[in-house]
Amino acid sequence: MRPDAEVQFGELRIFFAVLIGVIILFSLWFMLITVFHVVKPITRLTEATLKISKGRYDIKLYTARRDEIGQLASHFMTMSRELERTNRARQEFVANVSHEIESPLTSIQGFAHALKDGALPEPQRLEYLSIIDEESRRLSVLSKQLLTLSSLDYEEHALQKRSFDLRAQLRQVMQIMEWHLTEKELAVRLHVADITLEGDPNLLYQVWMNLVTNAVKYTPAGGTISIAARADDHTCTVTVTDNGEGIPAEQLPMIFDRFYKVDQARTRDSNSSGLGLAIAQKIIQAHNGTIEAASTVGEGTTFKVSLPCHNTD
Ligand code: ATP
Ligand code: MG
Repeated sequence: MRPDAEVQFGELRIFFAVLIGVIILFSLWFMLITVFHVVKPITRLTEATLKISKGRYDIKLYTARRDEIGQLASHFMTMSRELERTNRARQEFVANVSHEIESPLTSIQGFAHALKDGALPEPQRLEYLSIIDEESRRLSVLSKQLLTLSSLDYEEHALQKRSFDLRAQLRQVMQIMEWHLTEKELAVRLHVADITLEGDPNLLYQVWMNLVTNAVKYTPAGGTISIAARADDHTCTVTVTDNGEGIPAEQLPMIFDRFYKVDQARTRDSNSSGLGLAIAQKIIQAHNGTIEAASTVGEGTTFKVSLPCHNTD
């Protein structure tokens, strides 16, 4: 019995030793798998975060995993792409602002320099002065537009809302534009229902003003501009239609981008910064409304603004 028991104990010891060995090996294997599957991706994410904080967005993470880590990596990639886009947009915005400021300033400097010449004939002197006046006005409009945009960007809920008469406001816009309309011999059709709108009257005024100014600017002499406003159910719709030059279909989605002008060369000299529609869209969105454009080259353009409202005409 005894030798057998010793042999049995010996075998048991070997068995336990092998078992412990297998457990240790298994634990090591398990640890390696855990490190590979959990710790490694997190380390890569940490490295990616550091890269982003240094302004580098060329990040590639493995996003095919379907678990939480895969989701985290995929959301991280989306975030980095979005950050890159915002950063590029910011750089482009600064470049555009500098460009828009640079050209009137250069012109002001040039004409001011020429005016120093005491022997300049009077008519020429007056012409140079009026150019300086015009260019400084352009700079002032640009700075006001930039201020409006930044206040709409950072204080989205800073609208000073009250009820106001939309028909009276649209008539006021047409009155102010009257001189330009007569000068270009443009016919105007106004079909505006009696609508009381709840919103920021000063900001909405800027929207109508820009839409009508655009219609006047981009419609040749003798054309027609129609302004219509109606209210149904819970929506008020204002449309500004012209039978002017129109906008090519491929450029239509871009016209609401900041500084976007369809014809860069032609609008360079006019008082255009390409900010008007970007501001209009921001204002309408702040009122929970929508603004859209439809256009056919050579036939004309229609801008349609829809705003929530609570009255019928
Ligand atoms: P700003 O309004 O800042 O003085 P802008 O009129 O050029 O300058 P937006 O009002 O943003 O800028 O318009 C962007 C571009 O869309 C214009 O430059 C023009 O090319 C085009 N556009 C806008 N409205 C019309 C329209 N009614 N007909 C044809 N093109 C238009
Ligand atoms: Mg405009």
